[in-house]
Amino acid sequence: MYTTRALNSLSRRYICAQCRHFSSSKPTLAQAAEVKKLGVIGAGQMGLGIALTASRMAKVPVTVVDNSQQSLDKGMSFADKLLAKDVQKEKISQSDSDSTRQRLQTTTKMDDLGDMDMVIEAVPEIIELKKSIFSSLAQICPPHAILATNTSSISITLIAAATTKDPKDLSASSRVVSTHFMNPVPVQKGVEIISGLQTSAETLATAIAFCEKMGKITSTSADSPGFLANRILMPYINEAIICLETGVGDAKSIDDIMKNGTNVPMGPLTLADFIGLDTCLSIMEVLHAGLGDSKYRPAVRLRQMVDAGWLGKKSRKGFYEY
Ligand code: NAD
Repeated sequence: MYTTRALNSLSRRYICAQCRHFSSSKPTLAQAAEVKKLGVIGAGQMGLGIALTASRMAKVPVTVVDNSQQSLDKGMSFADKLLAKDVQKEKISQSDSDSTRQRLQTTTKMDDLGDMDMVIEAVPEIIELKKSIFSSLAQICPPHAILATNTSSISITLIAAATTKDPKDLSASSRVVSTHFMNPVPVQKGVEIISGLQTSAETLATAIAFCEKMGKITSTSADSPGFLANRILMPYINEAIICLETGVGDAKSIDDIMKNGTNVPMGPLTLADFIGLDTCLSIMEVLHAGLGDSKYRPAVRLRQMVDAGWLGKKSRKGFYEY
């Protein structure tokens, strides 16, 4: 059922949920439950990418929930466009494209997630919003369902704690884990899997196995602000914005030197526009508050641009115009 890659990753990389250190007592393949039905909350750029990739690669039915019908319609027409492009490029057959699309359903009601084996949340990076969604999921989903978040930086332990009023009751919180996909999801191979203090070995094993069934390569990290990817990436983007605001270089020079000088596919300001400047600001705020070091202070220009509603590609204006 699961690939050799999944088996290898389950046996090689495991962070003990209790002591937070890499451990030799690994989750085993037998501990991974099968995910036959997936729910995704949020039909934005990440949620849509996760839903589409799960339907296409893992071939499971996916129910996408968004509180905005407009976001659902926009997301599904984007899915149609991506599938049509892949058919045209002969990356997928017309019949695979049709069945991928047929496995995707949309709804504005979270209550429709009552029979899911796993739910992946991808709503905006707002702590109170994520907490309220996980509190509802604990009530709505069956007792075996894995409750995953795509958060870029918020503590998994904190999100898991929102599933219960009794901290001793781990029945729901032990099923919370982070599957941190990268943007754009259909293209980027890496997924960072993060356990909270409460996360069980079974939950971790299931999250790893399912992400690998989606064709991804998993890395595990501890529940520390920004985890691995954003702890490293966001200070780099923030420093590029500080260079811009203090006149060390203009946007084109900053992006050109990093793109052509370090062989990355795009410069840091273009990348920030693609990620969304609101998301970048939220992550810097989590790093600053969580690690308490002034080196993580968000750039003044970043905050101003978010205040102006210049959020990057999704609002058609950021460091560049789209
Ligand atoms: P987005 O703004 O593109 O999409 C969020 C979606 O959630 C929207 O469609 C919105 O209508 C919907 N939503 C808002 N409140 C809701 C609610 N109460 N119930 C249901 N749906 C609701 O955001 P995104 O860029 O897709 O980011 C989603 C998450 O993924 C965030 O936690 C972000 O930090 C994380 N993330 C983003 C990136 C990136 O590059 N953008 C990369 C990795 C992780």
